[in-house]
Amino acid sequence: MSLTVVTGSASGIGAATRAALLEEGKEVVGVDLRDADITADLSTREGRRGAVDAVLQRCGGTLDGLVLCAGLGPHVDDAERIVAVNYFGTIAMLDGLFPALRKGDDAAAVVVSSVSSTHITWDDNPLASVIESGDEAGVGPALEVGGEYKGQFAYAGSKNALTVAVRRRVAEWGAAGVRLNTVAPGSVETPLLSQGMADARYGQAIREFVAPIPRHAKPEEVATLISYLLSPKAGFVHGSQLVIDGGVDALLRPTRF
Ligand code: NAD
Repeated sequence: MSLTVVTGSASGIGAATRAALLEEGKEVVGVDLRDADITADLSTREGRRGAVDAVLQRCGGTLDGLVLCAGLGPHVDDAERIVAVNYFGTIAMLDGLFPALRKGDDAAAVVVSSVSSTHITWDDNPLASVIESGDEAGVGPALEVGGEYKGQFAYAGSKNALTVAVRRRVAEWGAAGVRLNTVAPGSVETPLLSQGMADARYGQAIREFVAPIPRHAKPEEVATLISYLLSPKAGFVHGSQLVIDGGVDALLRPTRF
């Protein structure tokens, strides 16, 4: 039976993806802080190492699918933790499990980025030099530029860096026969969004912004896209970022794509 690992499986998009894959008859191993097959804190080096080891043990060194959803929103007060989970936690799982995916059957991975990844460019990303040097300790000073809005810098910066990281892996992963893509959701009805809407700094802007399709996505809609990207139907889709945002990106950046 096909085996897929889903991080952030206890809530929101990760939980919906886990349910969709189970419905398709796949075996799913969930990784999260709680309520998961493997409990791990992806904000720390030890937690990431433990999660990779536990997955490898569980799957016997061979994996068919990987979905990296675990993440924190911009409202979280500890901005360094946002980067630790969203970028470093995701990349540790991605690279740590690549050898197992290489051995998998028509294997594919999907990283959940965000439409926020397009709100800055790599050239303007305050995290770019820290990430190039792999110096996680440099994240705090790099985020100082964000002042009161450090969380937003941490969020957009980490999601921009994730999309760049996926695109940079496209040759090696393609040659290994493992497809790798990102999805970039706009607002999705999950606890992360509810917490953002209740936040004193970001809430009003999130509540008042209306997408061309005037509602938030359901987590199941994002799960459907992820399930497609994992499937053989997406056999030539590689290194792509599929936006699922009710038209927001096209509205804000009609001439850039
Ligand atoms: P959510 O809060 O419902 O789920 C996130 C999950 O990640 C939770 O189960 C949480 O426990 C887990 N997690 C957080 N920190 C962790 C850690 N240190 N170690 C292990 N697991 C951890 O949020 P969601 O909206 O489903 O978010 C899933 C992904 O989608 C995130 O990467 C988020 O940035 C992205 N996203 C969400 C939206 C949105 O509007 N909801 C929009 C764009 C992108």
